[in-house]
Amino acid sequence: MIADREEALAALAWLVEAGADEAIGDAPVDRFVARQTPAPVAPPKAAPARPMTTSRPEGPRPLAQITPANVAPLVTDGFSSALEIAARCQSLAELKSALEAFEGSQLKKLAKNTVFADGNPQSGVMFIGEAPGRDEDMAGLPFVGRAGKLLDRMLAAIGLDRTTAYIANVMPWRPPDNRNPDPGEVALCIPFLRRHIELARPRILILLGAVSARHVLGLNDGIMKIRGRWLEYRIGTETIPAMPTLHPAYLLRQPAHKKLAWRDLQAVADRLETLPPSP
Ligand code: URA
Repeated sequence: MIADREEALAALAWLVEAGADEAIGDAPVDRFVARQTPAPVAPPKAAPARPMTTSRPEGPRPLAQITPANVAPLVTDGFSSALEIAARCQSLAELKSALEAFEGSQLKKLAKNTVFADGNPQSGVMFIGEAPGRDEDMAGLPFVGRAGKLLDRMLAAIGLDRTTAYIANVMPWRPPDNRNPDPGEVALCIPFLRRHIELARPRILILLGAVSARHVLGLNDGIMKIRGRWLEYRIGTETIPAMPTLHPAYLLRQPAHKKLAWRDLQAVADRLETLPPSP
């Protein structure tokens, strides 16, 4: 049963990453029948993000393809409510309030604060990290600890600061003791993350580290393989250029790799010059 649940969670996380953003099917679903007859599904492989130069991928899979027969009922309920709540939010302020009021996450109950974002959402430049650490949980703001200080220096290297860039995380709640969140905990945050990007509508996304690249783009490749490459994040028919790079916490441990991140950021700065300004 636990294995079934984990498989269903992994499948669900993958579907979200692949772009499923609606909880509504074409046909009505009898969830009570499903509760009695859950059947496991093997988690599909994450759809790879496409380089900017390839032709447009197929549209997102509708969530209707997740049926109660292949998703554990408890998860369906929590995930559906996350999707519905996120979809209803029409502004970043509403999304922040919705996250602060969300009761579906165990992580939230253990965290001191909901860490939503910092910086300027109108800047058009959105950085996405992984999850708050202890300092961020205390402050209620992303990237305020040692990694945050380094991120500030990375921003400064391309002429940005927190008035000209926007900063958020995949997870708005600190996992206790900075442990890795489990797939179910992440899956509940993904509808909020996707809506966050949709409402902020950045001109460019910078994904800090492998966890961010995995959950924003559905990529399971190592960060060393994908960093420095232009990929794309899709919102409906629009695409946003996305650059995965090294996480500042990793750079604190491996300072010799800073030059790689600097190179990636330089590519971001160049790209920003060619992109039309935010509307
Ligand atoms: N690391 C992250 O990914 N995010 C933060 O907010 C802090 C550290």
